Amino acid sequence: MEDLQRQIRKGRFQKLLPSRERVPSHDTIRYALRQWDLERLAMSHDQMMAKWKQNHGPQKGAIEGWRVAAVDGVELFNGTSHCCSDCLSRFHRATGVTEYFHRGVMMQQVGNDPHVIYGMEMLRPGDGADKAEGETTAAQRLMRDVVRRHGRLVDILTFDALYAKAPLIHECLDHRIDVVIRMKEERRLIMQDAKGLFDARSADGEWVEQGSGGCTVHVKAWDEAGLMSWPQVRVPMRMAGTKRSIST
Ligand SMILES: [Zn+2]
Repeated sequence: MEDLQRQIRKGRFQKLLPSRERVPSHDTIRYALRQWDLERLAMSHDQMMAKWKQNHGPQKGAIEGWRVAAVDGVELFNGTSHCCSDCLSRFHRATGVTEYFHRGVMMQQVGNDPHVIYGMEMLRPGDGADKAEGETTAAQRLMRDVVRRHGRLVDILTFDALYAKAPLIHECLDHRIDVVIRMKEERRLIMQDAKGLFDARSADGEWVEQGSGGCTVHVKAWDEAGLMSWPQVRVPMRMAGTKRSIST
């Protein structure tokens, strides 16, 4: 509620309301939230999804024929004075303060508007301080739940580097979903392998982009399939990468 009040003051929810309407106080919101029937809310989301599927929503928003969704984590409210049995916590050594928060993993359509939310799964607390289950564990549960509730909605799921874990990739493959991950960690064997291959040959594509401040960005791109240097993953991986050089 402290955090909600802070966010109301910052004007975070103003866009949800007509311009002249004032956001209710956190007390009013708390009172309303306590009356909500969460099961009915979930049912109404299911109904909306069924209608949306019937209207071929996922296909209409597709990117070159592929139905794509992104999975990412989001931290919800946090505070230091109260906690509940579902709270995650982190201990700040410098100040000696324990902060409590909730965090969820969301799946949302990518491509055309509207970016419909397919599902959300909360991270469960672990034992001890500073412990919560991994974000990838929650993501796997989310994927199973979305498939169970709504059937197959996507052909491709995109993740950021944090989710580059073999069990999650396998879970996707088991549901006949392809995976696109934006990799960062250059120490990874597969990244080093790809870099070695890219350095040794000319680019597969080249183009020019307009950078910020009127500069020109020359982009070279490589694409290599069949990489086997991630042995924990049961299929060969395809790597795509770019190099950018800026000229003014
Ligand atoms: Zn809590």
